[in-house]
Amino acid sequence: MFKAELIDRAAHFRLAEDDPQRRLESCPALVLNADYTPLSYYPLSLWPWQTAIKAIFLERVDVVASYERQVHSPSLDMKIPSVIALRQYVRPSEFPAFTRFNLFLRDRFTCQYCGSGQNLTFDHVVPRRLGGRTSWENIATACAPCNMKKGGRRPKEAGMRLQVEPIRPTSWQLQQHGKSFPPGYLHETWRDWLYWDIELEE
Ligand SMILES: [Zn+2]
Repeated sequence: MFKAELIDRAAHFRLAEDDPQRRLESCPALVLNADYTPLSYYPLSLWPWQTAIKAIFLERVDVVASYERQVHSPSLDMKIPSVIALRQYVRPSEFPAFTRFNLFLRDRFTCQYCGSGQNLTFDHVVPRRLGGRTSWENIATACAPCNMKKGGRRPKEAGMRLQVEPIRPTSWQLQQHGKSFPPGYLHETWRDWLYWDIELEE
């Protein structure tokens, strides 16, 4: 059978008739690299089930674990994969994406001026009006009161001090911080592939 036909078939998979209430959209597959480590932690590499099934038909991934839930096509019943592994190794990027979440994670969800974990926002260390850029090196997590107090000034001018100079973290550094802040939802079949030392929610 031609691959194109298989892919087309994958697209025609539909929700199991006996299970119309459940939302298949909520069955993402954890994607592992060929060495069986997560392809990415932040964000956690998850694919929608449709993408995962397509990749299976394209023989790009192996199924490591599955949900109980099934999808049906006219010719095939298939359990939805919950963990898949790439057949070809992808070199992980050394640096994580510059996202709000990752920035909070770098700063361990604490204000870099006073250490508070409440009302967090972002501060341009060198204000934008003075040419400060929106970059890893110039954005720090700050609580709203500190942000207000600092105003449009440099920390020194405001009599404030950063606890840690902002840097562009490596993926590894972010992973270390991430152990304290695991993703909110983790399927039980993912636990073997993530961290040793975090509590997993059921
Ligand atoms: Zn603060």
